Amino acid sequence: MAERLAIDGGAPVRPQRLPYGRQTVDAADIAAVVDVLKSDWLTTGPAVDAYEAAVAAFAGAAHAVAVSSGTAALHAAMHAAGVERGREVVTTPLTFAATANSVLYCGGAPVFVDIDPDTLMLDPAAAEAAVTEKTRVIAAVDYAGQPADYGALVPLARRKGLVLIDDASHALGASCDGVPVGAIADITTFSTHPVKPITTGEGGVVVTNRGAYAQAARTFRNHGIAADARVREQRGDWHYAMETLGYNYRMPDILCALGLSQLAKLPAWQARRAAIAERYTAAFDGQPALEPYRPRPGRVSAWHLYPLRLHLDRLTTGRQQVFAALRAEGIGVNVHYIPVYWHPYYERLGYRRGMCPIAEQEYERLITLPLWPGMTDPDVADVIEAVLKVVTAYGVS
Ligand SMILES: *Cc1c(COP(=O)(O)O)cnc(C)c1O
Repeated sequence: MAERLAIDGGAPVRPQRLPYGRQTVDAADIAAVVDVLKSDWLTTGPAVDAYEAAVAAFAGAAHAVAVSSGTAALHAAMHAAGVERGREVVTTPLTFAATANSVLYCGGAPVFVDIDPDTLMLDPAAAEAAVTEKTRVIAAVDYAGQPADYGALVPLARRKGLVLIDDASHALGASCDGVPVGAIADITTFSTHPVKPITTGEGGVVVTNRGAYAQAARTFRNHGIAADARVREQRGDWHYAMETLGYNYRMPDILCALGLSQLAKLPAWQARRAAIAERYTAAFDGQPALEPYRPRPGRVSAWHLYPLRLHLDRLTTGRQQVFAALRAEGIGVNVHYIPVYWHPYYERLGYRRGMCPIAEQEYERLITLPLWPGMTDPDVADVIEAVLKVVTAYGVS
């Protein structure tokens, strides 16, 4: 006899909902922020330089440019790569809308291509088939924290003369055959939103080995003005020139100090995320209705998300009901992602359902489980207990 589910009036595994992601902020982080608040520079000061140098070193890139969000980082990257009206960017639909929105901000057109059903990431063969003379960029996404298929995407971009952008919003700390994400694509972007590997509240970073891309991103985040206020101050000069149309995407020193303090803890957090993921995979392996997510050999994941796939033919109900039942058990499950072109805005632009059948099929059976470094072992056990309880109740006998 299966246990009575909370959704049917049974006792929930947890009385209070465990969130799917959460930041970790300690006393050292708070002290770092307070120090900046007492200093001369609240924005575009020395903490920005220190944070950028630390992220560049960590990510294995020559340059890092801190900006106000992961979305701003993508916008700056698309701008630096030369995306404009009439240009196309080949990308995955199984991502947060910002990946594709950043192309639209520049006047370009996102071209969605299907995913590899194993990794849930851009299929290099599908990407190659979509390249036209209008294509400027291939934008990969390191879904869930696993690096995309760079073994195929890097040579493809070279061969076609395209800029490879990595939306590594999930993947700070990830690596591919020992090479950190940040040293692989031409331009890589990170997000430091609270659920991401490290947080600054809001924030993003553009990293690249190419000075010209870094300079373009730097100018772009400051209205299109090449020199920042501090440089003018030091020069004793009032003159500045706005060279391109940029934005105010600057990152305050207050937040860069937080990011610098957070970065020091990332390796330990990443190890904790990996250990939790391993426990999930061990618990769900061999469950007929469940398909655990495994990074490919050679790829070290940042484990931003733990996506669990349902074998819907082995359940008496659909994903919606499994999701609702897990929420009722007190497990803050989520779904990553609704295919971007399903959103009403993209439909109005003319994108149609059915374009990427694998992404659509996989979306229908995906559930994201809670995964964050502050989870305790009992939290992890609760998630496992709830998932097994629910799939047992709805399992085909
Ligand atoms: C979080 C995220 C973004 C946007 O980052 P923000 O910092 O929230 O602007 C972009 N792409 C992906 C894949 C993300 O997960």
